[in-house]
Amino acid sequence: MAEEHSNLDPEDWSQFRAEAHRMLDDMVDALAQLRQRPVWQPASEAVRALFDAPLPTAGQPLAQLHEQCMQSILPYVVGNAHPGFMGWVHGGGTPVGMMAAMMAAGLNVNAGGRNQIALDVEQQVVRWMRDLLGFPATADGVLTGGTSAATVIALVSARNEALDAGGELSRLVAYASTEVHGSLRRALMVIGLDAAVQLQAIDCNAQLQIDLSRLEAQIAEDRAAGLQPWLLVGSAGTVNSGAVDDLSALAALARAHGLWFHVDGALGALAMLAPEIAPRLRGIGNADSLAMDFHKWGQVPYAAGMVMMRDGAQHRRHFMAAEHYLQRDAQGLAGHSPWPCDFGIDLSREFAALKVWMTFQAYGSARLGRMIARGCRLAADLAARLAAMDDVELMAPQSLNIVCFRYCGGAYDEVALDRINRELVRRIQLSGLAAPSLTCMGGRAVIRVALVNHRTSLQDIDRLLATMQSALEATLAGDGRIGEG
Ligand SMILES: *Cc1c(COP(=O)(O)O)cnc(C)c1O
Repeated sequence: MAEEHSNLDPEDWSQFRAEAHRMLDDMVDALAQLRQRPVWQPASEAVRALFDAPLPTAGQPLAQLHEQCMQSILPYVVGNAHPGFMGWVHGGGTPVGMMAAMMAAGLNVNAGGRNQIALDVEQQVVRWMRDLLGFPATADGVLTGGTSAATVIALVSARNEALDAGGELSRLVAYASTEVHGSLRRALMVIGLDAAVQLQAIDCNAQLQIDLSRLEAQIAEDRAAGLQPWLLVGSAGTVNSGAVDDLSALAALARAHGLWFHVDGALGALAMLAPEIAPRLRGIGNADSLAMDFHKWGQVPYAAGMVMMRDGAQHRRHFMAAEHYLQRDAQGLAGHSPWPCDFGIDLSREFAALKVWMTFQAYGSARLGRMIARGCRLAADLAARLAAMDDVELMAPQSLNIVCFRYCGGAYDEVALDRINRELVRRIQLSGLAAPSLTCMGGRAVIRVALVNHRTSLQDIDRLLATMQSALEATLAGDGRIGEG
């Protein structure tokens, strides 16, 4: 038996190179020919079973694994790269982003710290966002896996500041609208609050924005009851309908009442890149902290988000890593402090900044902004077409890039209508031609179209409406009915 090759690099680099080129070609083809595949299709049990095998003791050739990826993985992912994908709030990714992710994996940078250029790349991205959003020079930030993680980081600082000022953890109260994203509840749980009691979900106005007078009344009531109003969260685009809270009013209100003002910018912060939409986010730069995503409207491949802290020095006091093995020096590899690990939870981190940096460099802020504005125009156009239909009603004011509606025709009762709308979504998804998602508004099943993908065009909206029509006919005919599942 031949002695095993002594490290994990290929024995034959030219053979590896040839296979690597084939893998790259296949991925370029996959992106160039997205429309030739279904948006989404479920994996069969046979395919799923392939991923139920035990840990292999022996290795396999890369060519074989490449083939397995093409046959058993590529066809069965969620499909958010496809222009027909309109479900949830998912970015489409870009070919440039794909190459950046490959470069980052090859470099295998641990971006937690140390004297390396990767930190400059990340800080440049943070400064770009600081200036775009209108934060002061004292602000600082760090890239995260997404808004959920960014929110936890922001809230740790907000909580620690409150406790340092004599607050009592169990008396702190957070405020947000009923439409706020679930990641806020999770973050509150992670930092030790009981979200069921310590988050006041304030009702919305007709635009699904937080109702300011109800908010003020609740703050006053809670203070009178001996509680400690602490955190106010505004949404720069809610996940359900894209509603944008009045951020400048919230910032003023937070200042007047001594609350920490946090903005959830996961969906909408990057709309600052679109001059025709940016005015709706007025006040975003007045936040004490902000969480946002690059993997949605930024079209950066998953995953990349960021937390921005208005007072960077204050934030680092709460997170600075002081361990002996992480001590800093003026020179050498331990230089270039502060490090990303001083801003957040992760010590070892991927070099996510490279794909964000390369995306902005390759496309430029103006073009990315035009993509965002186009998604909003498509949403407005879709909403107008749906509103003109007899059997369809809009279920939320169309805002930014999201349209919520339902079929409401026939003489069906509400229970039947919910069933029909659920079945419509299921049928459209299973068609492979378009993929909206389902949500719930006012207790009713609602079809939700979120236009985030830069590839989605009028042609895809036309296809969605045509698919919906045939799905409706099949549903109402009870033809091969897809049961409640
Ligand atoms: C997606 C989203 C989140 C969560 O962000 P992740 O990056 O998935 O963690 C939070 N808020 C809103 C409004 C979102 O759209």
